[in-house]
Amino acid sequence: MEKIVSLCKRRGFIFQSSEIYGGINGFWDYGPLGAELKRNLRDTWWRAMMREREDVVPLDATIIMHPAIWKASGHVDTFSDPMSDCLVTKKRFRSDHVELQSGVVYTWTGAKDDDGKECADSISVLLAQGKPPESARKVGVQFYSQRGLTNPQLLGEATAKVENTRAFNPENGAQLTEPKPFNLMFHTFVGATASENDKAYLRPETAQAIFAQFKNVVDSSRQKVPFGIGQIGKAFRNEVTPRNFTFRSREFEQMELEFFIQPDEVIEAIYGTVSPWSETADLSTPQPNWGWEMWHRYWVSQRVAYYKGIGLGEDVLAFHWQTKEELAHYARACVDILCQFPFGIEELEGIAARGDFDLTQHQKHSGKSLEVFDEEAKKAFAAWSDEQRAALLEKKLSEQRAKGKGGMTDADTAMWWDRLFKGFYVPHVIEPSAGLDRLALAVIALAYSEVEKTDTKGNKETFTVLKFHPRVAPTKVGVFPLLKNKPELVAKTREVYDLLKRHMSCFYDESGAIGRRYARQDEIGTPFCLTIDFETMGEKGDELKDTVTLRHRDDGSQERIKISELLGRLLPLVQ
Ligand code: ATP
Repeated sequence: MEKIVSLCKRRGFIFQSSEIYGGINGFWDYGPLGAELKRNLRDTWWRAMMREREDVVPLDATIIMHPAIWKASGHVDTFSDPMSDCLVTKKRFRSDHVELQSGVVYTWTGAKDDDGKECADSISVLLAQGKPPESARKVGVQFYSQRGLTNPQLLGEATAKVENTRAFNPENGAQLTEPKPFNLMFHTFVGATASENDKAYLRPETAQAIFAQFKNVVDSSRQKVPFGIGQIGKAFRNEVTPRNFTFRSREFEQMELEFFIQPDEVIEAIYGTVSPWSETADLSTPQPNWGWEMWHRYWVSQRVAYYKGIGLGEDVLAFHWQTKEELAHYARACVDILCQFPFGIEELEGIAARGDFDLTQHQKHSGKSLEVFDEEAKKAFAAWSDEQRAALLEKKLSEQRAKGKGGMTDADTAMWWDRLFKGFYVPHVIEPSAGLDRLALAVIALAYSEVEKTDTKGNKETFTVLKFHPRVAPTKVGVFPLLKNKPELVAKTREVYDLLKRHMSCFYDESGAIGRRYARQDEIGTPFCLTIDFETMGEKGDELKDTVTLRHRDDGSQERIKISELLGRLLPLVQ
């Protein structure tokens, strides 16, 4: 990880935000190459998820929205992480991220000092492995000194063994406070008054704007359920402990799709049955009789194919299917796509089947209908018998009652049922939600490799090569004249550079030996280099005239290719 962080800075991928002022924790800037890499990743997502599909449209919403959105979504009340403070250093920890520790805990019931001052607060300290008990006592003394005692004498010492606990500061062993929820939303004030009434939030996810604008998109885009709305944009979370470079930042970018589908009851009414999911199900092309489960699996497979297309094959991915206990009360299923990072296998993207929770919440809180009208559903339900209708109501009532607090009230269920037969319903949603910064970090970390080369004098040197997939590489082609002091070579090279730069990011370089120039491009992950030499100028006859050397980064192989064929050859590889 250290090597990657250092390369990112040295070569201009990622810098610490505000570095000249000492930096600001959890914020990162992307340098020239990082900005290109991120843009390429954004483009690949935009193309795969929207441009190449007929059933997904984009949205670009504001970062600050009406605060009622965050009340409706549940973020104001529940978007929090558990937080604990060290009783001695006051350092703050995300309680569930403190490393598990085992050992002997020293507890004191209080302390007193020579002036007769007493403190009856109790504190526990976990003794670090291999350290003498004095080291734990030192931390205890520190605690009571902070409470105004001079040279405190510890009272009522007791010891106990603990296993796998997160209750102590791993740095000094001191006890942490009980976990308290800490809301992760950044807030600000809109307008000059800055009163509580003007409080607004920086969005902690891009998804909610999609739900809030759902009706406008339906009314303006001629899309019909099933269809999706995608958005790429900044999100902000006041993470308790930002860490692992850009992996957990306080400002980051998300790429989110909300794909709206018909409820399973509608599919059943129209097609008789809902297509059942099985391991061998064909997920290649969406079918009209798919219910939420097939759509959910479909989007998982689409996202896996997307990752493969930019060089993250299944060998570096893993999947965590959330258990019933882990699932949010409204979610039917959620899978985390995990990726191999230098610090472990961690989440890259979450794909959740969220039912109709989000739109229903916004419908309730805004008082505006977010239902769609479905002619086909209306027709299908019109053919239902009274018994069928009654059975559906009974089924839905018992389903919702079984959910307890999270379920719909009987009155809401009856309303839902009534609207359904008229062809109106709130669509359900499948949400693939990916983090752009995490993806950039994964791509850089997985591309990182080192090769050892021996020069003509037998000296060994280690070179870094970033093996980016050509689609995401920040620079696609390095373009070099063999010699910089031959005007005709330079002019021809500039011609080739001008031809390519309109279609892909290129880098013109004329300084140093060719080998050095290749190495510089290898280090930043440029997949192709072109060298223009005297053969290009026709010095070895017409056959090689107007051809250039195309060098491939990963195996160092070289071939001669006509300038007129360059675009046709390179474009499909880099786009
Ligand atoms: P985690 O459990 O790691 O905090 P999450 O489950 O809260 O993530 P979601 O709310 O599902 O994350 O957000 C979707 C995606 O946004 C995540 O899969 C991740 O790629 C990205 N993301 C979330 N939080 C951060 C962050 N603090 N920094 C960078 N990316 C993030």
